[in-house]
Amino acid sequence: MTTSLEGKDVSLWVETTEQTNYPKLTTDDTVYDLVVVGGGVTGVAAAYQAQMRGLKTALIDKSRLIEWTTGNTTAKLTSQHYLIYNYLIENQGEAVARSYAEANQKGIDMVAMLSKKHQIESEFTPTDAYVYTAKPEKIDDIKREVEAAKSLGIAADYVERIELPLKSAGAIRFSHQAQFHPRKFLLGLAKVFVENGGMIYEQTEATDITPGEVHSITTKQGELRARHILQASGEPFWGNEIFKNRMWTKMSYALALTLKDPSAYPKGMYITTDEPMRTIRSAIYKSRPVLIFGGESHEYSESSFDPELHYKNLIDDAHRSYDVEEILFRWLAGDNMPYDRMPYFGAMPDHPTIYVSTGYRAWGLAWAMSATESIIDDILGSPAAWAKPFGLERLKDAPAENSNLHHSM
Ligand SMILES: Cc1cc2nc3c(=O)[nH]c(=O)nc-3n(C[C@H](O)[C@H](O)[C@H](O)COP(=O)(O)OP(=O)(O)OC[C@H]3O[C@@H](n4cnc5c(N)ncnc54)[C@H](O)[C@@H]3O)c2cc1C
Repeated sequence: MTTSLEGKDVSLWVETTEQTNYPKLTTDDTVYDLVVVGGGVTGVAAAYQAQMRGLKTALIDKSRLIEWTTGNTTAKLTSQHYLIYNYLIENQGEAVARSYAEANQKGIDMVAMLSKKHQIESEFTPTDAYVYTAKPEKIDDIKREVEAAKSLGIAADYVERIELPLKSAGAIRFSHQAQFHPRKFLLGLAKVFVENGGMIYEQTEATDITPGEVHSITTKQGELRARHILQASGEPFWGNEIFKNRMWTKMSYALALTLKDPSAYPKGMYITTDEPMRTIRSAIYKSRPVLIFGGESHEYSESSFDPELHYKNLIDDAHRSYDVEEILFRWLAGDNMPYDRMPYFGAMPDHPTIYVSTGYRAWGLAWAMSATESIIDDILGSPAAWAKPFGLERLKDAPAENSNLHHSM
């Protein structure tokens, strides 16, 4: 990548926190109750909850904690995932749509509760979330989504005006949402995990699993043993053929920038249903507000991957939309898109003690909190009934060639 683009090539979250320095695996003879592979929001949330609920747990990451997708997000904690509830009610039924909404509201509450409990300065800030459109012909979709969300108990309403200096014909507002600093929160949780007896190995890459009553996890650095495994590695590193044609990777980009007009920073969090997608919120850098301006999502393809083009589009659009003082940072990452707009979490088909949690459709931050809680419930013998429709068993019945797959934004 050339350096002619404005902004330092690092996320606001990585820039404003210390890098972790947990040890590499050398030898470890412990038979763990749970080994968690992958230290993003899924892995850290799962490891913390498991250890606190009495499971002897190790967390490994091939690199450093919270530096991949979770370190390169826009960090909205929300049950508002574009337009989803009308679609879910029509395609999965009201009960599943309600579970989806409640799990995400609970995920937001869990971050608030854990930040308070462990005195983690996570920048958790209650904020309304908006989906807007500039297209009058899309207003009916917006209004339908408001009604669908309300019918599920979400505090949603329709608003005609938004505070952004961008064209809008109308928007959905969800109350009781929040924004936060994902690394500050999760680094705090990882610290509590270790203080309570959990083990973290960084720069430890899992390459294989030999299933058994006690599973063996092969890593490039040595072997670990565990009665349960959670693959929290984004796309699972083991047995991922079940996801073929049922999951794809979406890349997204973001900038952090300062504005000349200090009153122009929004209080709410925004996303548009229009193309090109834009996602906007405020945050804090060195005690001053910054604007996070993201979007440019597209399907990942190795042959046509051109991040410079998408950064340039985003930077040009930021300058068109706002009186920008300085573009400070820019970052990108990918997330996994499921074929039916619902994440995949639970035990793997034919392996009841090997779990996966992925496919968050670029909305994993609140999801991961409650998805991993349900996995720990399952390990402890009290499976949560609400979680079943999100399980991996549904992959067995999914059509191998899915025409809807790439329309599941
Ligand atoms: C630009 C952008 C903006 C986003 N904005 C939002 C938002 O506002 N709100 C929201 O809810 N979601 C958002 N998302 C999505 C959200 O960030 C993700 O859903 C979430 O971070 C995924 O977390 P994860 O733990 O599953 O994966 P990751 O954070 O990618 O963690 C996986 C970890 O596994 C490790 N790993 C992989 N393979 C192995 C292996 N073999 N052995 C050991 N370790 C391994 C990796 O090093 C990595 O640390 C956004 C995503 C992007 C890209």
